[in-house]
Amino acid sequence: MGPAGGSGLSAPTLVLNRSWVPINTTTVRHALILVVKGAARFIQPDTYEVHDFESWLKLAPVPGQFAIRTPVFAVRLPEVIVLTDYNRLPGQRVPFSRRNLHRRDGNCCQYCGRHVRADEMTVDHVVPRSQGGKNSWENCVIACRRCNSVKGSQGLKESGLYLLREPLQPEWSPCLTTQKGLRRPSWRSFVNDRQWASGFG
Ligand SMILES: [Zn+2]
Repeated sequence: MGPAGGSGLSAPTLVLNRSWVPINTTTVRHALILVVKGAARFIQPDTYEVHDFESWLKLAPVPGQFAIRTPVFAVRLPEVIVLTDYNRLPGQRVPFSRRNLHRRDGNCCQYCGRHVRADEMTVDHVVPRSQGGKNSWENCVIACRRCNSVKGSQGLKESGLYLLREPLQPEWSPCLTTQKGLRRPSWRSFVNDRQWASGFG
């Protein structure tokens, strides 16, 4: 194991969008792939210099810090990257899970709009499973018990209910993927006070 803050290719890297706004964290492994593909650049956190893969290779590793070592050279560990083309993280989809579904729908019933207590939340399949409805972002919504029982195993039209908004796959993870405590001190200058206080990273 390396120093605190994670080590190796699975260590966390902060991801900024084109406007230098933090949108997520990812692994060093994924960050390297993005930079090699040209979808992102490395940022040197102390100087804000932006590097492509080649110019990053010329930086000496910081003494005492983890570096990616090959038999012939060592590469400084990237801690922050900035996306070049997109304002979302390419190649990283939000995993479909009950927890992420609650986050997408803001813990509100998507039929009546009521805020739903944890013990009252249900997951409703818009197209019922009995009619071939899938377990997917586009077919699942949070519903209160009352609306879920009104809908039963009917389709949307037959039930007479309306969705408040179209259920879609979120663009990036609403939950940041890095565990608390694994964030790097160098991220502080890229993250605003509110994000930092809420445990960004
Ligand atoms: Zn409801």
